[in-house]
Amino acid sequence: MKVHTGKVRMPLQKLFARQIFDSRGNPTVEVDLVTDQGLFRAAVPSGASTGVHEALELRDNEKENYMGKGVRKAVENINKIIVPELLKQNFEATQQNEIDEFMLKLDGTENKSKLGANAILGVSLAVCKAGAAKKGVPLYKHIADLAGNKTLILPVPAFNVINGGSHAGNKLAMQEFMILPTGAASFTEAMKMGCEVYHNLKSVIKEKFGLDATAVGDEGGFAPNIQNNKDGLILIKDAIEKAGYTGKVEIGMDVAASEFFKDGMYDLDFKNPNADKCSRVSQDKLIGIYQEFMKEFPVVSIEDPFDQDHWEAWTGFTSKVNIQVVGDDLTVTNPKRIQTAIEKKACNCLLLKVNQIGTVTESIQAHLLAKQAGWGTMVSHRSGETEDTFIADLVVGLCTGQIKTGAPCRSERLAKYNQILRIEEELGSKAQYAGKNFRKPL
Ligand SMILES: [Mg+2]
Repeated sequence: MKVHTGKVRMPLQKLFARQIFDSRGNPTVEVDLVTDQGLFRAAVPSGASTGVHEALELRDNEKENYMGKGVRKAVENINKIIVPELLKQNFEATQQNEIDEFMLKLDGTENKSKLGANAILGVSLAVCKAGAAKKGVPLYKHIADLAGNKTLILPVPAFNVINGGSHAGNKLAMQEFMILPTGAASFTEAMKMGCEVYHNLKSVIKEKFGLDATAVGDEGGFAPNIQNNKDGLILIKDAIEKAGYTGKVEIGMDVAASEFFKDGMYDLDFKNPNADKCSRVSQDKLIGIYQEFMKEFPVVSIEDPFDQDHWEAWTGFTSKVNIQVVGDDLTVTNPKRIQTAIEKKACNCLLLKVNQIGTVTESIQAHLLAKQAGWGTMVSHRSGETEDTFIADLVVGLCTGQIKTGAPCRSERLAKYNQILRIEEELGSKAQYAGKNFRKPL
């Protein structure tokens, strides 16, 4: 403890939260933490849909204010409850585990519903940044230390370039079509490939559907008015070919199948109120569709191929295929759901979203749990993002080998990719790109 002018100087000098806005114009929490090393700022992302198994994102629910999405209560919980209690403890910012544990106890609920996961996460992220500065190391290095990693790996970016599902105005049932430049030699080259394929995709879509089909969605991907999911893959395959990267850029999908699971069947025309029954397919038929995709296109990763509680379909599919099967809605970064999925061999990769679990410590634990089971981990942004780039350092520090943070379009998405470029530059000759080993980079 340092003493200045007779006053006791605390390691965490000032902690303050405010309401800011995310990339969709919705309120979110921002936290400022001041230590001897300076000001450390963190902002909390937000998903469009939140499941029952996720940590609770506290919203004011006042219809007359911000469509019910205000975060005044979460901000107050930080300023009036967390701050006075936390500052009393005299923690150093490097004590990430202790600080997260302290906040969990202060909250006392299983899903962080008392203080709000958005309140707790804001503080946890700011503490992590301040902890890195206290140690005098970059944030990714601090995270690597917290996770017990000696190596640092640059991830394969999974760019979400075509959008469908519940959050796109087209008829496409499956939610995300991604490109993964696994054949690049570095992250910098992966960015080049991703951006060039993206621009080629824009011209392919413009040629086929006109300029108004090139408007972008929340995550920067295009949403052309196609209905057949295979057409999405054809557009991407054409764009990869035009850019000259066939064999070097592979394809990932997020089906988000829970969105169109009805009465034991999967409705591939779920956004059409007049859809006829033949658009509904069984789990076996859907598996057949995936197998056809995998045969005709370089599909290497499929997220949420089935409904979040359709365990038997997941287990059957994962046992049959060699590709990456990612649990997102299935596992919601919840240790209990992850454990069940491990036991049932339901998937082989965790989608890691920090705001679904609510602290840095638990995010690291969720990844380590998945890793011990032999799974991969894909770090993920949310559809409502901010300029905060924490997950860029997280993916490098945890060495998960893969990150999805949107198309190479919209600055809240590029902010993360740009930060990884800086990290690669900083690592210099020590930089290692995950490439084809993205599922198990270590
Ligand atoms: Mg998903």
